[in-house]
Amino acid sequence: MKRGLKWVVRGTIGLFVLATVTCTQSEQSPEITEAGPGPSGLPQVYAVNYPLSYFAERIAASEVDVVFSAPPDVDPANWSPTAETIARYQQADLVLLNGAGYAGWIGRATLRDSRLVDTSAEFVDELIAIEDAVTHSHGPDAEHSHQGTAFTTWLDMSFATSQARAVFDALVRVAPDHEADFRQGLGVLEQDLDGIDKRLQDVASRIGGQPLLFSHPVYQYLIRRYGLNGRAVHWEPDEMPGQDEWRRLAEALDTHAATWMVWEAEPLPETVKRLEDMGISSLVFQPCANRPSTGDFLGVMLENVSALERAFAVSGF
Ligand SMILES: [Zn+2]
Repeated sequence: MKRGLKWVVRGTIGLFVLATVTCTQSEQSPEITEAGPGPSGLPQVYAVNYPLSYFAERIAASEVDVVFSAPPDVDPANWSPTAETIARYQQADLVLLNGAGYAGWIGRATLRDSRLVDTSAEFVDELIAIEDAVTHSHGPDAEHSHQGTAFTTWLDMSFATSQARAVFDALVRVAPDHEADFRQGLGVLEQDLDGIDKRLQDVASRIGGQPLLFSHPVYQYLIRRYGLNGRAVHWEPDEMPGQDEWRRLAEALDTHAATWMVWEAEPLPETVKRLEDMGISSLVFQPCANRPSTGDFLGVMLENVSALERAFAVSGF
């Protein structure tokens, strides 16, 4: 999957790191940076998040160098790359953008328009505006808010497919000789995404109108595409929610009697226990905005689907 890629960890970059606020990260780790233009001579394709880099790798890994260099523990949506990393993006042949206001640093960097690809342009009219902005504040570095446009577009598998097609179109522009190979890669990727889409539709039809809770307001496109009756709180998997948050949850249950909460990552055992005492079970559905520690985008999405299928098994009804 990553043929032609060389990754090195830069040990000194912490000196230059700006204060970054993200959903899941509390400390910086070194940025992983591609080893430079290198001798490959292949087009340099940079992505702003892991799903887009995964799509590019699936379509064209042997003919382009795909680079996604956010540290593993940041949310790429809120990432602030170092000046050195931005300089590499400025030299890229292609920069794959998520659109939907994703990766605000892009607007502050000087990148050549002709090399930018907005992979959500095709469905820009269907993007979801966030109505009630919530600022999340706890700990010294973790404050961030969700406002403007919902950006986790790839959790709607039809949008993921549209984004993969936009990546394909852009790759053909930089390596036109390989269009046939790229088309084949896209075709297989589309089948994989379509398989996930169908399984999500199936499990969603079993879930029906049952109220669900989501631990973070990043599942808007999943909720809409699959017709879920979801409501989000703004909790972090690795932190015990405060008393106010528990109280607000108890109030919400009056009108939204959920028995499942969907998490971005495995929540703390004490959180799981307290939720269980309220009759709420937990399951993990990882948005996978960043490179997973094991496996890849498809593997994570398959795990996500399986978690939903286990929770809402046919035999459970
Ligand atoms: Zn958040």
